[in-house]
Amino acid sequence: MSAQLIDGKAAAARITQSVKQLVEQRVSRGRRPPGLAVVLVGHDPASEVYVRHKRIACDYCGIVSKAHYPNADISELQLLTMIDELNADDEIDGILVQTPLPAHINAETIIERIRPDKDVDGFHPYNIGRLALRLPTLRSCTPYGVMELLAGIGETFHGREAVVVGASNHVGRPMGLELLRAGCTVTTCHRFTVNLQQWVQRAEILVVAVGKPGLVSGEWVRPGATVIDVGINRMADGRLAGDVDFHSANERAAWITPVPGGVGPMTVAMLMKNTFDAAEARSRLADGPR
Ligand code: NAD
Repeated sequence: MSAQLIDGKAAAARITQSVKQLVEQRVSRGRRPPGLAVVLVGHDPASEVYVRHKRIACDYCGIVSKAHYPNADISELQLLTMIDELNADDEIDGILVQTPLPAHINAETIIERIRPDKDVDGFHPYNIGRLALRLPTLRSCTPYGVMELLAGIGETFHGREAVVVGASNHVGRPMGLELLRAGCTVTTCHRFTVNLQQWVQRAEILVVAVGKPGLVSGEWVRPGATVIDVGINRMADGRLAGDVDFHSANERAAWITPVPGGVGPMTVAMLMKNTFDAAEARSRLADGPR
């Protein structure tokens, strides 16, 4: 028996379509369209592709995206000054700083400088802290997208055994917080975890976000599990692969995300949703409900 595929492309298209409608309604109420500042430092080819996809999604949704593409030799202080200007800009509702940043710039320092209510990536300690306290505002886009995919297949969450492999600040940790908030019993595995297989085998919901192709063998997957593969790895032959061995996992899982076409498109869709939500929250503060 093969697993059912979780179609992230279709789910993302539904979300961006709904954001597009919400933006149209907002504009018809006399408000300006949401504005997203996209900051890309240097010329990392993969980052350029991600930024292009995000700006295309903005165009589709009617969100105004303003590009800031400083050279890789910009100083941390100059980048902080740019963030300060964007924080103060009334036409900007969201600020996205594409990572990775050059080695001489501390990414955490930059993220912490972004106003939490413009942190549409959901990376700021304020927003992660609110998620930890079960009071989410702007939620980290990738884990948020995974939760939407799980809800879309009718996942019930309460009491379910969830295992997250990977504990990064941007994916694994907020993923664990999302699943905990939803009522799962959550285990987080990371580079120091001993005997990864024994933890993976327990998972009714398995989310893998490491960046190592084939790290999780399909034989480890609990029969009937839902497998969400966040990993994106460029292989020597140019194709993309996830962190889970898809073919063997597909034999045992009930549901599985493909790579590409699973979580990736959802990350962009949730960025659009967060940017719209940030714009609405700021407008309500400025001129009350409308
Ligand atoms: P990261 O390098 O910041 O973190 C990797 C995590 O994996 C760390 O917590 C580390 O402890 C853990 N790890 C490393 N080796 C391990 C092992 N052998 N067993 C268990 N855990 C191990 O990476 P990240 O930014 O969290 O990204 C992870 C992957 O997800 C990458 O492939 C990245 O490209 C992908 N990604 C995809 C999306 C998307 O939209 N689909 C978004 C972000 C990241």
